[in-house]
Amino acid sequence: MVIALILAGATATLAGAGYFVWASGRRAEPVVHHARCPKCDQKVRYGPARAGQQIPCPRCRRRWTLPATGEPSAQGSALPRRIA
Ligand SMILES: [Zn+2]
Repeated sequence: MVIALILAGATATLAGAGYFVWASGRRAEPVVHHARCPKCDQKVRYGPARAGQQIPCPRCRRRWTLPATGEPSAQGSALPRRIA
């Protein structure tokens, strides 16, 4: 009987914590950057944690560097850093 009460309490606690995480996650707008592959123009979405990192393009597999700002830069300026 005691175990059942503990389990019920733990379940309620987990449910409350889960709801809190869910509610806070819905309230906070996730930051998502957008960039386009310099080779095939594939649009790529990524979080700020991946900014400045090299990734293989999901379409053409070319490796390129995600811009730190995530904003599409004007053509011909601010070329992404390339590491062969
Ligand atoms: Zn590509």
